[in-house]
Amino acid sequence: MVAHIEDLGRRIELVSMDKHFHDISIGLYEQAEGGAHNFVVHTYSRLDGAADRVAFLSKAMMTLGGLERTANGHGGLRFPCGAEHALGCRRIFLESCKLATGSTLDAKPLSIFDKKSDRTVTVTSDGAGTYRLTADGPEDGRDRRVGAIAKGLVKLAEMELVADDQVRFACGHAHDAMVGLLLGRALNVRAAMREQEDQASRGVLSAPSAQSE
Ligand SMILES: [Zn+2]
Repeated sequence: MVAHIEDLGRRIELVSMDKHFHDISIGLYEQAEGGAHNFVVHTYSRLDGAADRVAFLSKAMMTLGGLERTANGHGGLRFPCGAEHALGCRRIFLESCKLATGSTLDAKPLSIFDKKSDRTVTVTSDGAGTYRLTADGPEDGRDRRVGAIAKGLVKLAEMELVADDQVRFACGHAHDAMVGLLLGRALNVRAAMREQEDQASRGVLSAPSAQSE
């Protein structure tokens, strides 16, 4: 069901110890196929249940991140727009790995309570890849907080800043699930970036081989 190892492509993210499944390492691989970008969740572990864990993570990435199955039958994933969105995809993978197999999967809403500013932050899609951020509550400090969260989305999802309160995907397609998922992380973008760096440095130390680097 999974692609042959030589077809896996380039590893773009690694969870070196999956705390939800026997500390196995699980990688996210990217394949560029005729201009399309496909992603594969893969583990070298041969433990019983490892394949189920990988299948769950793929499913989680579809629900939480809005990816879909590729048509080539290799168990790969892609964004409906076909674009890479590598950074966003890596985050979707990391967030999925935080869930135990069998967890209920729901796409995150485009609205979230921001403890730091005591406001509800809402993101509105124009359906063509542009999202506008708004927040309720008093005017004082509101624009600044909205601007900081917008910049967080730019960093985490490789979006473009259109205005202080507007961000867009260069592909021109809506990615509501990904935006909803990353909105929570954009509230504290520093912690999110640190987490990714930690993950990356651990990955270097415990990579099964360096060939995919
Ligand atoms: Zn896209």
